Amino acid sequence: MSFLTLSHIQKSFGTVQVVHDFNMSIEKGEFISFLGPSGCGKTTILRMIAGFETPSSGTITIAGKDQTSLKPNQRNIGMVFQAYALFPNMTVFDNVAFGLKIAKMPKADIEKRVTEMLKLIHLEHLATRYPYQLSGGQQQRVALARALAPKPQVLLLDEPLSALDAKIRVSLREEIRQIQMQLGITTVFVTHDQEEALSISDRIVVMHAGRADQIGTPFDIYNHPETRFVASFVGTLNLIDAKVADASAGTILLGDQQVRLAKPLPAAAGETVTVALRPEAGSMAEGAKGEINLSGTVASSHFLGSVIRTRLDIGGQLISFDMFNDPGQAPPAVGEKVTLTFAGDDLMVLPH
Ligand code: ATP
Repeated sequence: MSFLTLSHIQKSFGTVQVVHDFNMSIEKGEFISFLGPSGCGKTTILRMIAGFETPSSGTITIAGKDQTSLKPNQRNIGMVFQAYALFPNMTVFDNVAFGLKIAKMPKADIEKRVTEMLKLIHLEHLATRYPYQLSGGQQQRVALARALAPKPQVLLLDEPLSALDAKIRVSLREEIRQIQMQLGITTVFVTHDQEEALSISDRIVVMHAGRADQIGTPFDIYNHPETRFVASFVGTLNLIDAKVADASAGTILLGDQQVRLAKPLPAAAGETVTVALRPEAGSMAEGAKGEINLSGTVASSHFLGSVIRTRLDIGGQLISFDMFNDPGQAPPAVGEKVTLTFAGDDLMVLPH
């Protein structure tokens, strides 16, 4: 049975609808990321789970219990925000103890629980410090410990890493995931960073204009995007317009080249489809012949160390192609004629 459910959730602010019929069942212990550009509604959904916003319609349940009209403090939820939001006049210890004091936990139990939490985030030695004496990453770890201390049923993380610098972001996201798995706590994480979502989640919800465009594992979202939006938002992709030549034979016209994909196409002959192609897919090795071959001309070539980033003119369409550096092979020169070879699955065909 699913643990956290959102059924037919709609949300409007005034006359503007920002969430459209959102449905999802989340399992106990799952780590779910809501990924999408600014304004797509991901924070609004998180705030509805927390109880800071009320859905215009629809139901939210946790462990089978309807939460929809409960106030935030009546829900057993922990939350970490983008800005650290620690109490500046309280020590690390008192910040983490805050929710436990409110719940009137006996003093000795508070002491024990806070110590346990500080151990979990590896900050036992900083218990008597104040927030201003901590780095940004340390402050977010304290915020996490404070959210987890009262043993919430669900943990909500609203872009908790976005104020941190790149290196800390990566190490803290790994630490968050490790703590989440250790505790087995059901977690909903909001981010606009695709790499963050791919690296940390059991499943990702890709949000687009108030709707879930796709819900799936990081592997599925990255390898099998179902819409042009998901393809463009997750991964740097070539999105190429092509015309369906013969839908039953699975052939398309890509620039001036007819390509046989041998798979069902989402449009009829003469209609336009989007071909999504990752820059790292396929190969340019001489003499290699894959299931799909495209000929082109090198328009530009940049040596970046581990990869050589090229732009190729494929029948009038420019595509990006990254090849791994091979010390035994010179980078392709501008103007050189090349053949790219692909496996059938490398070219994803999406509705336009
Ligand atoms: P961001 O990453 O910028 O926070 P988001 O995907 O989380 O974006 P939301 O914050 O959920 O987006 O906002 C979705 C839409 O709802 C936006 O157009 C926003 O302007 C609007 N919105 C959010 N809160 C309110 C509010 N209290 N009153 C009116 N409009 C709101």
